[in-house]
Amino acid sequence: MPLDLYNTLTRTKERFAPFHPDRVGLYVCGPTVYDWAHLGNARPVVVFDVLYRLLRQLYPEPQWKVVYVRNITDVDDKIIAAAQAQGESIESVTARTTQAYHEDMAALNALPPDIEPRATAHIAQMQSLIARLMDSEHAYEAEGHVLFHVPSMADYGQLSRRNRDELIAGARVEVAPYKRDPADFVLWKPSTPEQPGWDSPWGRGRPGWHIECSAMSEAHLGETFDIHGGGLDLIFPHHENEIAQSRCAHGGAPLARVWMHNGFLSVNGEKMSKSLGNFLTVRELLAETPGEALRLTLLSAHYRQPLDFTRDGLRQSRQALDRWYTALRGVSDIAAASSPVPFDVLAALEDDLNTPMAISHLHELASALNKAETVGQKAEAKGALLAAGAALGVLAQSPEQWFQGSSGDRPGGAEESAAIEAQIAARQAARKARDFAAADAIRQALAGKGIVLEDGPSGTTWRREA
Ligand code: AMP
Ligand code: ZN
Repeated sequence: MPLDLYNTLTRTKERFAPFHPDRVGLYVCGPTVYDWAHLGNARPVVVFDVLYRLLRQLYPEPQWKVVYVRNITDVDDKIIAAAQAQGESIESVTARTTQAYHEDMAALNALPPDIEPRATAHIAQMQSLIARLMDSEHAYEAEGHVLFHVPSMADYGQLSRRNRDELIAGARVEVAPYKRDPADFVLWKPSTPEQPGWDSPWGRGRPGWHIECSAMSEAHLGETFDIHGGGLDLIFPHHENEIAQSRCAHGGAPLARVWMHNGFLSVNGEKMSKSLGNFLTVRELLAETPGEALRLTLLSAHYRQPLDFTRDGLRQSRQALDRWYTALRGVSDIAAASSPVPFDVLAALEDDLNTPMAISHLHELASALNKAETVGQKAEAKGALLAAGAALGVLAQSPEQWFQGSSGDRPGGAEESAAIEAQIAARQAARKARDFAAADAIRQALAGKGIVLEDGPSGTTWRREA
């Protein structure tokens, strides 16, 4: 079946065809590591993780290699400011934040990218790119800065489709007397002795933000690759400027063929963002909610649509997972038949990642599993539901783990589980000693904490009350 993706560059849904005969390249702009990720930051990660899973399904190894690159921006003025404010070294801020980011995204079942380049490890590539732009007169030096000269590119602005006034308004943050044109943007800027900096032909300095992604995508995916993604806010100026730098350095060759942008996650209709202060970090949400429920919530709207985050939406996702895991728990003793991604689910995802449609099919697959009668039917239906779940990156744990909520997503979850197990053992011992009052007291104490014990032929299991 064909894959159709909406291309921001052409504003149309297009049939996808890989640029290279044996590999598919995907580049997604990654985090600036100075603070914990909020749930809005997780939306592109989860959306493009579904795309990555789909591409790997459609272009399997060994004939194909899907190469997913997601960078880490570890040099940026926000990082410098955070390090200063916290009295911490820049290296410590970036290392600590990168580690937290990895943990948070793993808890959302996001697969790690194939390559995760760090900006500070690609300074030489950035300088090489800037030098080529200088040589071809697309860039100029002024007061220790190197700037990209926007009027030097005849077709600048194709991605954002902004007119000249909008371009200037958008670049206003960088208006400086040394700019030849108000729309020009920084490729390299000078550093004071206290600021991080690298020697360069233009003096000791550090890169602008946009050049980082042009250099890292060139280094790991070549001049032209298949898909470039990120949030809607990156279309201008970030992606527009990436295109300008890369195309002008590469004799006009396109940077990415398909540009994909996710819509915003909002809270009460406002974009979730650090500056508005209306954000919830992934970390704090994980303390109270399983990662799969957060992930499913992020996939509950089509990725190009806005998604308003509510507790009610989160509860619905949790209930959907409860339902699917209940169906799976009913067939714990039956091995799943190996299954491809069910047709309807694949077709939904191939239609520009229609995840809400895919989720509705998962409900149907769970119903089918509940209705299955013979062992063979159950094995097939279980396999189909699990394969569909894997395409969305959910149903990755056992039903036991899900109902106990101790999959490791919850900080302290493992310790809490161990404590509950100890209580169950104590109750067992009390029952053995025929001290039923004591055994009952333990059961009731756990019930008071929302822990339900279920006695079965093979012992006692526990789950959290829904
Ligand atoms: P930032 O740290 O602001 O550069 O954002 C990292 C990624 O998260 C970028 O791809 C942004 O477009 C994306 N992003 C930031 N805020 C939101 C939001 N509220 N909803 C969806 N995506 C967002
Ligand atoms: Zn980027």
